[in-house]
Amino acid sequence: MSTMSSPVIALPDASWLRDRARAALATLGAEPALGDPAAPGLPASTPITGEVLFRVAESTPSDVDAAVDRAARAFTAWRRTPAPVRGALVGRLGELLTEHQDALARLVTIEAGKIGSEARGEVQEMIDVCQFAVGLSRQLYGRTIASERPGHRLMETWHPLGVTGVITAFNFPVAVWAWNAAVALVCGNTVVWKPSELTPLTAIACQTLLERAAADVGAPAEVGRLVLGGRELGEALVDDPRVALLSATGSVRMGREVGPRVARRFGRSLLELGGNNAAVVTPAADLELAVRAIVFAAAGTAGQRCTSLRRLIAHRSVVDTLVDRIAAAYRSLPVGDPFAPDTLVGPLIHETAYRSMVGALETAAADGGEVIGGRRHDSPTECFYVSPALARMPAQTTIVHDETFAPVLYVVAYDTLEEAIELNNAVPQGLSSAIFTTDLREAERFLGPDGSDCGIANVNIGTSGAEIGGAFGGEKQTGGGRESGSDSWKAYMRRATNTVNYSSELPLAQGVQFG
Ligand code: NAD
Repeated sequence: MSTMSSPVIALPDASWLRDRARAALATLGAEPALGDPAAPGLPASTPITGEVLFRVAESTPSDVDAAVDRAARAFTAWRRTPAPVRGALVGRLGELLTEHQDALARLVTIEAGKIGSEARGEVQEMIDVCQFAVGLSRQLYGRTIASERPGHRLMETWHPLGVTGVITAFNFPVAVWAWNAAVALVCGNTVVWKPSELTPLTAIACQTLLERAAADVGAPAEVGRLVLGGRELGEALVDDPRVALLSATGSVRMGREVGPRVARRFGRSLLELGGNNAAVVTPAADLELAVRAIVFAAAGTAGQRCTSLRRLIAHRSVVDTLVDRIAAAYRSLPVGDPFAPDTLVGPLIHETAYRSMVGALETAAADGGEVIGGRRHDSPTECFYVSPALARMPAQTTIVHDETFAPVLYVVAYDTLEEAIELNNAVPQGLSSAIFTTDLREAERFLGPDGSDCGIANVNIGTSGAEIGGAFGGEKQTGGGRESGSDSWKAYMRRATNTVNYSSELPLAQGVQFG
């Protein structure tokens, strides 16, 4: 990475950020005790300046026990509440989110460092999923199946599952909770949420809005509980046998620990883990469109989306042009304060993220890669602003197989579409993928059974920025879970197969005779 010195970027000071956070919380109706940064408690910090803004009350494992207990008790009544009535709670939550979109988005910017438009977009995603879930509350359909026996009806019914534990990552501090909570609640489950320890204020805001929605529609506040803290609390949820479904979003490392632990107690888990997403650009691509999509997918959110574009697999005939155009676009991307209206790339979340970016680029260079960009910008406080980097690689070396959660885009060239698809599928993760082509045959080949092996495969659109209407998730080390739209709701319910005999005979299935 270049060590060339650059002008110090202008950032707001911590007291301005504190005032903004306090005002946003107050607008939402949240009144947490916000302790002094030097006081004990969970730090509420900001990547914008790298400083601790407040301390908030940290939960203990016994708080997790109490939260699960309350949610388990609430479940016994909530599961009997008709689904459309449950939908009214989620509908009201969606209204409150609409009313407070700006305030919640401001908190997302403060805690996760997202630029204003992306922070608002994240809250919009919550509103969208609430609307989806309200519709879903009248569509929890089961099938009726033709019975082989006369006078019998065979059918499937879907029932609430129980307490849903939700563990979320820092980079979508509010939307991932909403994907889970909105759907779980209409399905008749209750929810205990452990957000990332890096984003407690946004979580407090969401919990406040859920409790206000519950009060407004006369639902019990206990249907949604919140605990604040780190991994130890997550582990308490993972091991609690009263948690019927554990939905965990985060790194592959976390999923590797969580999945087997939940399985050991025969609980259900829904894992949404890391990605290593690629875009294939063929000679038939509309390059102008491809470059725009690639720059947003690779550099947007400073490369800190699970669906961020990390690998560009470009046909040898277009790779030079693409690299030149992306590098030029990167040079003009404004990096800095995410509250500034022109900024397109905000900060990395913390020093560890920056160190992993530096390490990845050093390894890429040692592997024969040509690194372009990736400069750190000088800042008045210890925070981490970087220009996005390209690393043109001779091959997909080991480092390219890792997810580096920062704006690093590896570029490899290919000769045949077969080879491009092999490269796309050669990594251990399987979240998102894209092909840029105007050739129908290439596009359909990529989407087909021997094409991309990812949970998301797109044509002429980047790897990030999914709509909530589809099922979201990925294969292989991404964990196999599906959340949000389509029929993802089935993961939050239990299925019963019912046979009703309305005849006066007792025929046995398969023609079995018994006395
Ligand atoms: P992380 O794995 O460090 O933490 C995620 C959450 O898991 C946090 O709440 C953390 O406290 C908790 N946790 C960590 N170890 C745990 C354990 N052993 N038991 C229980 N809980 C534990 O991830 P992060 O740095 O917050 O987020 C970035 C990662 O999340 C990236 O890998 C990214 O791809 C992934 N992510 C995936 C999706 C998706 O939908 N697939 C969405 C967002 C982020």
